[in-house]
Amino acid sequence: MKGFPVWTMVVCLSVVFGISVADALEPTSSVEGLKAEVEGAAERHPGIVMSRGGEYPNTDVGNYVAAIGRHLIEGTGRYDDFVFHFTILRSRSPFAFSIAGGYVYLSVGILSLASCEAEIAAVMAHELGHVLLHHGSKFGEAYLHLKQGTLQEMRAALEEVREEQEREADEFSIKMLVDAGYDPRAQASFYQSLVHFFEIVGHVPPDWRERERVRRLTALAISYPLPGTSAVCSPLNPL
Ligand SMILES: [Zn+2]
Repeated sequence: MKGFPVWTMVVCLSVVFGISVADALEPTSSVEGLKAEVEGAAERHPGIVMSRGGEYPNTDVGNYVAAIGRHLIEGTGRYDDFVFHFTILRSRSPFAFSIAGGYVYLSVGILSLASCEAEIAAVMAHELGHVLLHHGSKFGEAYLHLKQGTLQEMRAALEEVREEQEREADEFSIKMLVDAGYDPRAQASFYQSLVHFFEIVGHVPPDWRERERVRRLTALAISYPLPGTSAVCSPLNPL
């Protein structure tokens, strides 16, 4: 984890409470764009797995997570002919990330923090949001078009792009959870657990941004019709 901002290595969940989320976040280049990103991703995949300590060998866990991923994708009613790859990494540190081309990675550590299937789905939906919205390619474009300035200014510009992408991925993922039949409040409840984890393990008190993320995630989730239960994790596991 050293050398990385904690909240970018783990799942970084934030949303903007807005209207017309589904319409505003339709992927722009659809299936064709995704296919074009696959080749590079396949080449990078083995190196990524090796550099993060290898794949978790329990195939039952891998199959279960892949089934959640498929269920989320099916809920969108799109991308039927596109292959997504879900990989569980051995690491006990809680993190999840994705790369352009449909590869999503979750550590054993982040799975162990989830209280139920809906919270695992929340993490995965966020990462699928990054993939389906082509955030990797767009970040690369933003990097190439950075205006000249001081290093600090350039970093700030990229951070702005990254934060915007986090908000987009969360908005997209809340809708994805709803479409798949999961309680969208799982996004906020899981992020709250993550904040709590770092409070205890890392002795890092949550700053206003983390609190704001939880508030925004909750606000967006409750803008959708919710199941008739107060507990996010109680009965709602579609698989
Ligand atoms: Zn993210």
